[in-house]
Amino acid sequence: NASRLLGKTVLVTGASSGIGAATAVLFAKGGANVILLARRADALQKVQEECRVAHRASGLNQGGKFHSVQLDVSDKTQVASLLDKFPNDLRQVDILVNNAGYVLGVEHVGDIADADIEGMFATNVLGLISVTQLFVREFKKRQAGHVINLGSIAGIEPYAGGSIYTATKHAVHAFTASLMREVVNTPIRVTEIQPGMVETEFSVIRFRGDNSAAKKVYEGLEPLTAVDIAEEIVWAAARPPHVNIAELLVFPVNQA
Ligand code: NDP
Repeated sequence: NASRLLGKTVLVTGASSGIGAATAVLFAKGGANVILLARRADALQKVQEECRVAHRASGLNQGGKFHSVQLDVSDKTQVASLLDKFPNDLRQVDILVNNAGYVLGVEHVGDIADADIEGMFATNVLGLISVTQLFVREFKKRQAGHVINLGSIAGIEPYAGGSIYTATKHAVHAFTASLMREVVNTPIRVTEIQPGMVETEFSVIRFRGDNSAAKKVYEGLEPLTAVDIAEEIVWAAARPPHVNIAELLVFPVNQA
């Protein structure tokens, strides 16, 4: 029931493109307030404007407050002062969507640069953990809140050339499942969304900007769109308070 989102405040990391941007817009459409976080300020502003338009078109008179935070989740100092960057009326976050993440390169183990290994772990794992810690402390005090983490099929099934990315997503899976058990018997909910192939900027970043290599991955199949996954995230958030969607694995029909 979408009315459960009315007036809620949602923080979406990685909201400047792809799944995060689509999620921010869908929450806005559902009458939530949204804080959008990513490194690219200009891209965030565009998505924030899309949120405003979507909220206005919904005709809902709750929610509709939007704020962008330019921040790198891999920078612990920046994350530590994250709440200082929120306007006073949006300090109380109800739903945290840990979506910021990427895969860079398809090299085999011996060929991967240290910087790429460290970068992927710093964002996909350590960044997600730091942001989660910040809000779980709040959620525990308030005895309310929902953490929604973006895992991946890569967190279940490794693939050649994806050793580091799959290791990061296996870590997200283990961390999320542990957190869920830690807050059992409290009203706090923990969800992991595990998408299969979704066509976003992610695909191009994986191939270091090589568009045609990125396109080849989807030859002969129809990948998911960012909106397909955003709909699952918003659906999980809108379940009744006693229902926790622990994991949701979502594939395009052509993927097995
Ligand atoms: P996009 O590249 O479109 O979006 C990634 C987002 O993360 C961008 O908004 C980017 O913004 C942000 N981001 C990256 N690094 C940081 C950082 N250090 N600090 C803050 N923000 C950051 O990819 P998707 O939408 O496809 O990916 C979203 C999530 O879904 C990721 O966690 C990804 O691993 C996961 N996923 C994607 C799949 C796919 O096939 N696309 C499949 C399975 C999972 P900016 O550059 O402005 O910081």
